[in-house]
Amino acid sequence: MSAGIGVSPGVAVGIAARLGGDPSYTESDNKVPFHAALSAAAQELERLAASVAAPAADVLGAQALMARDPVLADRIAGHQRAGHPADRAVRAGFAEFRELLAAAGPYLAERVADLDDVRDRVLAHLHGTTLPRIPRPGYPFVLVAEDLSPAQTATLRPGQVLAIVTERGGPTSHTAILAKALGIPAVVACPAAATIGDGQSVLVDGLAGTVDVEPPAGTIAAALEREDRRRAAATAVTGPGRTADGHPVKLLVNVGGDRDLDTTAEGVGLFRTEFLFLDRDEAPTVDEQRAAYGRVFAAFAGRTVVVRTLDAGADKPLRFATAPREPNPALGVRGLRAARRAPELLDGQLRAIAAAAADHDAQVWVMAPMVSTAAEAADFAARAHAHGLPTAGVMVEVPAAALRAEQVAAACDFLSVGTNDLAQYTMAADRQHADLAALLDPWQPAVLELVRRTAEAGARLGKPVGVCGEAASDPRLAVVLVGLGVTSLSMAPVALPAVRAALAAHTLADCRRLAAEALS
Ligand code: PEP
Ligand code: MG
Repeated sequence: MSAGIGVSPGVAVGIAARLGGDPSYTESDNKVPFHAALSAAAQELERLAASVAAPAADVLGAQALMARDPVLADRIAGHQRAGHPADRAVRAGFAEFRELLAAAGPYLAERVADLDDVRDRVLAHLHGTTLPRIPRPGYPFVLVAEDLSPAQTATLRPGQVLAIVTERGGPTSHTAILAKALGIPAVVACPAAATIGDGQSVLVDGLAGTVDVEPPAGTIAAALEREDRRRAAATAVTGPGRTADGHPVKLLVNVGGDRDLDTTAEGVGLFRTEFLFLDRDEAPTVDEQRAAYGRVFAAFAGRTVVVRTLDAGADKPLRFATAPREPNPALGVRGLRAARRAPELLDGQLRAIAAAAADHDAQVWVMAPMVSTAAEAADFAARAHAHGLPTAGVMVEVPAAALRAEQVAAACDFLSVGTNDLAQYTMAADRQHADLAALLDPWQPAVLELVRRTAEAGARLGKPVGVCGEAASDPRLAVVLVGLGVTSLSMAPVALPAVRAALAAHTLADCRRLAAEALS
């Protein structure tokens, strides 16, 4: 048995098919000019983005933006003017663009995979071929790869691809988040993936993070039985979230756009609004925003929808809102901080949210990302209240906000812990960095300690404290988070049944005991 990191739960057994190798081209044999290839790649990515739901659509939209970046086209044109054939000019242009991006900060480890995928698409169009990417063996299979780009993952069909095993990749990489959204079991950062050949039988456990090559029948049977039990337990429990002794915990969903909304959930705990802003040169108008937010509010009529205002910067750069060339974008002008540079952006967004809220009968709450101080929380709440939005809270994803949670909570109406960034900033470990997965683990006691402080501060002041980072979707951790005192959990819709079942199997006292154990 080989170990990796399980990033999407589920057990699957099937025949391995490896991702096709890179196509080889004759350098001088280009079929179209490079700018046509760039534009074809951008259109292809835009088409893909339009055909899938968030978060895949956001990632693909960002890739399309890369293909349309005039700096990239200038670089390639420069190489062509210097006498290089188009193929070499494209490769050299992308290599330079990659360096430019890398100079903008360490989070680029992840974006570089996205950029390489764009380059490969451009080269394929240049040579009039298609990418020999996802294998099609004619039967459902286990996809094995060194790594997968978000674009490749986004287009996988769950019926065809039984599971994913990659050599590289990290737990909060785009690929991992997309695999989970598609419900395909996945194990990443598994070195043994390099040795799995086409046609071998493979057993993948996406919860345990294990991969067995040519497994004995007994091992397969035991794993499938375990999975059956897990699924049966998950679907046996229905209704609103509560512990075995009836303590209510709101179970909410994270949404990233206005498509594929799971309308059976109790509400939305995190509505990421970046999707509307990503593939643009300018911010969308207030009317356009109002219509897009309204579609989500209509789908969740009568329930709470927590809208997060724009979280631009770091891993979500926007042309019109992100400070150029920050040496350290994760520590730069991102989230609410961008409102200092462009207050009209936040005000326009709050106006649009308030207008959409008035059009529909969802209970609309707003929250700000990347808040560090009580003063920032107070400022945000005052702005939101001034727009007629009565419930304004902030995300706790910076250790400073967790350490001063009482003051921060006093300055606004609720808190929501973003464990993805809270782990990154607490452990000083880039959330995109595959090698730092152990440090980024939300089970780290230091991170749990900050969740506890935040939840306790909320309880003292009678204000809700939710968790909306990926940690909330792990059923075992969800139990611990409830034991630490959080009042709601927000997650990818696929994770809801297992979390609901885990809570129903534990009393509040069990949750508290497990939380104390996890902390110690
Ligand atoms: C988080 O940081 O945990 C979070 C929910 O926000 P995002 O993943 O969008 O940064
Ligand atoms: Mg965050």
